[in-house]
Amino acid sequence: MSRIASVLIPMPLPEAFDYAEPEGMDLAPGDQVAVPLGPRLIRGVVTGIRDGHGGNRPLKPVAERLDDPPLPPGTVEFVQWAARYAVDVPGQPLAIALRGARAPKPRPQRLVRLTGTHPARATPARAKVLEAAAGSDGLSAADLARAAGVSAGVVKGLIDEGVLALHEVVAEAAFDPPDLARRGSDLNASQAAAADVLKAMATEGGFGVALLDGVTGSGKTEVYLEAAAAALAADPEAQVLILLPEIALTQAVIARVGQRFGAAPGEWHSDVAPPGRRRVWEAVAAGRCRIVVGARSALFLPFRKLRLIVVDEEHDSSFKQEEGFIYHARDLAVARGKIEDAAVILASATPSLESLRNAETGRYRWVRLAGRHGAAGLPDIELIDLRETPPEAGRWLSPPLIAAMAETYARGEQTLLFLNRRGYAPLVLCKACGERMTAPDTESWLVEHRYTGRLVCHLTGFSMPKPAACPHCGAKDSLVSIGPGVERVEEEARALFPEARIAVFSSDTVFDAREARRLVESMAAGDIDILVATQAAAKGHNFPKLTLVGVVDADLGLRGGDLRAAERTYQLLAQATGRAGRRDRPGRALLQTYAPEHAVMQALKAQDRDAFVEAEMAEREMAGLPPFGRLAAVIASGPDAAQLDAFCRTMAQAAPNTPGVEVYGPADAPLGLVRGRRRKRFLVRADRGVDLSAYMAAWRARVRPPGAIRLAIDIDPYSF
Ligand code: ADP
Repeated sequence: MSRIASVLIPMPLPEAFDYAEPEGMDLAPGDQVAVPLGPRLIRGVVTGIRDGHGGNRPLKPVAERLDDPPLPPGTVEFVQWAARYAVDVPGQPLAIALRGARAPKPRPQRLVRLTGTHPARATPARAKVLEAAAGSDGLSAADLARAAGVSAGVVKGLIDEGVLALHEVVAEAAFDPPDLARRGSDLNASQAAAADVLKAMATEGGFGVALLDGVTGSGKTEVYLEAAAAALAADPEAQVLILLPEIALTQAVIARVGQRFGAAPGEWHSDVAPPGRRRVWEAVAAGRCRIVVGARSALFLPFRKLRLIVVDEEHDSSFKQEEGFIYHARDLAVARGKIEDAAVILASATPSLESLRNAETGRYRWVRLAGRHGAAGLPDIELIDLRETPPEAGRWLSPPLIAAMAETYARGEQTLLFLNRRGYAPLVLCKACGERMTAPDTESWLVEHRYTGRLVCHLTGFSMPKPAACPHCGAKDSLVSIGPGVERVEEEARALFPEARIAVFSSDTVFDAREARRLVESMAAGDIDILVATQAAAKGHNFPKLTLVGVVDADLGLRGGDLRAAERTYQLLAQATGRAGRRDRPGRALLQTYAPEHAVMQALKAQDRDAFVEAEMAEREMAGLPPFGRLAAVIASGPDAAQLDAFCRTMAQAAPNTPGVEVYGPADAPLGLVRGRRRKRFLVRADRGVDLSAYMAAWRARVRPPGAIRLAIDIDPYSF
């Protein structure tokens, strides 16, 4: 009987394609294969096998089963589930799942080894080489020459003579097994109680979600590492995934995993070079890599036996992927846990309202830690009313903040100045004609970066040198920088404290994991006095000598019409201020604000999370917004405004009429023009009981956008 294989291809195609299984290939779901698509052979994954043949038109055969490891069933199911949830085609999440498999293999190394042949001629230099080669496990020719302290020619001569031979070795990904005999810290009573609950969840098997809720420094990391240790000890094949929202944070947790288990975990994020990705991917698929620490896309790795997923800083909006395949990693982590029958731990000092709601209603286990570990108290939080004590004209630090910085510096302690804005100034404006500088055909402002002397669009990546004259009216020296970014605050801090060691931590200054680790280490070692940072550094780290946090613009996140503006500002500032004070040193946080009476500022000052959450929940409940209702957005974009408007009218009419679902729009999207494309948006609100993904899929199926128009569906939109 001939068989048909459905093969999913990692491209934005509407469905899996059928191919004939060649005699004797004996395919199974999950296998990686090469199949013909048009004129090319392309990698795909078998998702199903059934008896039959192609009917009248014979199917093209699968060209080859690839040598690469198959995707485990849980990964295939997860990819398909994720596509349905995100109302996208499964080829999109599959492309993420195959990122490691498609990366080039690490290049083989050519190593030198002794053949046993004696050299025809002995010299002191040759003797040194032979000695070094005998004492080594295999070195490249250049390394051997270096080790022996001789020139490369000597080694080459011995190779030519056949005394040494070259052989190619592909280093197999060696992931040392975690040392499970090692013990973690002695837990305090509250930590031990929390760890017991989580360990039971992680070892008993079966799906379950826990919200691990405790202030910064309460020991959440310490506790979830105990749960990880228990999961790994309970089953020699068990694997653990720890997700972090930022690359800088992955570095800190990788170091802690290394200390706890005496072995480095697999590292997975956009900064890992392709051969490294391939190494981790294959080791995860083979079960050799048992702990992975990574960013959101690590969820798509081919785990064989995933027993525990930790989402650390679960409230963080960086878990939302906004481009390409649009998903929220926290939601998908819970889904993957369900598919794999694994435990899921969501950890945060400021949990999302979604997770708090799930904890309140008992869907998640609510595991709380009491206060900071040891003697460390929470910082004092004070509001600086900028209306009363403004900074000098053209400056951004107010006198009370400067005074606190001076005291801190005099005591030899550290200050963190937090401003969630990259670059030097968020706006460049011509004082002659009023023109605001933007990227071509895009609505958002160009941000001035002084380190590079360029104006940069943070949305599209467009950049240009800062012009000497206004491109609009031609006036010379008329461009002025409006507002502060971290570079400008650094400039001010340098002027105020010329002796101090000052560094900037933002994604522009810290563009890779190594640089992040270096800065975090020098901060921890006390080699920096003042760190000016965006959110890239304001989360999760422990800096023992950091006692003052100054928030330059506490109101920044409150502007704009985002549903989560207040929640997010609260979370971000609670995180940033939570960096102050550790162990024996009390901390202090000063928030510069024009709105000290705002509920967010009051809650931060009183350190009363519950009051803030209660008020925010009440508002959301009244409006039927998440976590009490569901939201989705559709962004339609196209180059031609009239065509886009016409299509949006058709789209509005096509919206299915379903009880419990309301469709709003179309309206201009928050960014109405990007790279010459106009953008319109529909917002959809639904009651909790509605399957919103199914609704959106049904809606989309009713419209046929013209070729120039693109539709993107965003389940649970964040940026609006
Ligand atoms: P969180 O993840 O909640 O911010 P951490 O786990 O990072 O907290 O703990 C904060 C600091 O306190 C870390 O330096 C950690 O090593 C230390 N710590 C926490 N609990 C203990 C403990 N039981 N014994 C010793 N040190 C601890």
